[in-house]
Amino acid sequence: MTRDKNARLATRAIHGHTADDAYGSPYPPIYNTTTFGFDSTADLLDVIDGRTRGGLYTRYGLNPTIYALEETLAGLESAEAAWVFSSGMAALSALFLTHGRAGIVCVGDAYGGTLELLEQQLPGLGLRTHCILGNEGDKLDALLADGVKLVFFETPTNPTLDIVDIRAMAAKAHAHGALVAIDNTFASPVNQRPLELGADLVMHSATKYLGGHSDLTAGVLMGSKALLEPVWAWRKNLGTVPSPETAALLSRSLRTLVVRVRQHNANAQAVAEAMARHPKIARVHYPGLPDAPGHRLAKAQMDGFGGMLSIVVRGDGSEATRVADRLRLIRLAPSLGGVESLVTQPCTTTHHGLAPEARARRGIPDAMLRLSIGIEDADDLIADLQQALGDAER
Ligand code: PLP
Repeated sequence: MTRDKNARLATRAIHGHTADDAYGSPYPPIYNTTTFGFDSTADLLDVIDGRTRGGLYTRYGLNPTIYALEETLAGLESAEAAWVFSSGMAALSALFLTHGRAGIVCVGDAYGGTLELLEQQLPGLGLRTHCILGNEGDKLDALLADGVKLVFFETPTNPTLDIVDIRAMAAKAHAHGALVAIDNTFASPVNQRPLELGADLVMHSATKYLGGHSDLTAGVLMGSKALLEPVWAWRKNLGTVPSPETAALLSRSLRTLVVRVRQHNANAQAVAEAMARHPKIARVHYPGLPDAPGHRLAKAQMDGFGGMLSIVVRGDGSEATRVADRLRLIRLAPSLGGVESLVTQPCTTTHHGLAPEARARRGIPDAMLRLSIGIEDADDLIADLQQALGDAER
């Protein structure tokens, strides 16, 4: 955490760590080493036993480049502690293996890899996992009453941008002694800080907004020291710490996180409004639109509506495919959160593995396109969408 405890988010993003460099560099250099030397066994034991912060072995995360990054990340989410991982999935795996032993319920839509891990892999290790829809509150009550101890969800959800009430979910889970963990990837800590709203743990695919340039893969898990402490051994022994180079690149990216996300928000709002007026668009999913179902709740629990939105093109899935294929500036790619705008058609990528009926049940028509709005000029993005929609008509 920054030395100034009252520093606001944009300041914490830049001055969020207290690791001093021997030569006065304002940022910790890349300690591109696997191990660190000691003058005495007593010094070594001080680091191993946690009495002194210092380098020891990089896979343990005991490397100044890594722990300076963790300090900054914790500060951004108002967390006591943070562990960084080699990917978002590595962070999720460690979370579930540590805190999901008494059962996990995933509420609403989630990233496809998360659902695959929960539904197909973790049950094989004996973990009880349940994936329910966002409107199946009675099932959630029954599972909590039955002793499930970890409630996990994303908000806004992918790709319908539904908003889940974090305070209400936390109150419900806590009444049963369960923990709440949130994947905050879509919002970023600039727009939403779940721990301040009552969640216990928050994770990110840092590959997305935290990294922000589509040039690194990393993940992070944050929460209280008590909840993170047992996660550390899983990360250590699964070997899922990022390299010092990746950690340094992520630290560098965090310094511009606040300005980037504010521009993502402004651009997405402009694109959503333009698409809502477009005759070839049947529906726009964006919490920043006043008539969006989650608008009021989003206003209450978020500081910005984010850079993600989905549009439903009039016509069928092939019509949407034609639009996606005609975009010139907005690239067809299955990721999000970078400075460049990307488009993906959920039925061909994120939700390709689901049967058409299952997609329909989740409100994901084949004619839906998900847009990750970057920080280019918003007018250029709107013009690109307009030309793609116009071409689709011919
Ligand atoms: N959570 C969300 C919301 C995602 O979109 C993704 C990846 O797309 C992940 C988690 C997994 O992150 P990673 O690809 O960094 O492992």
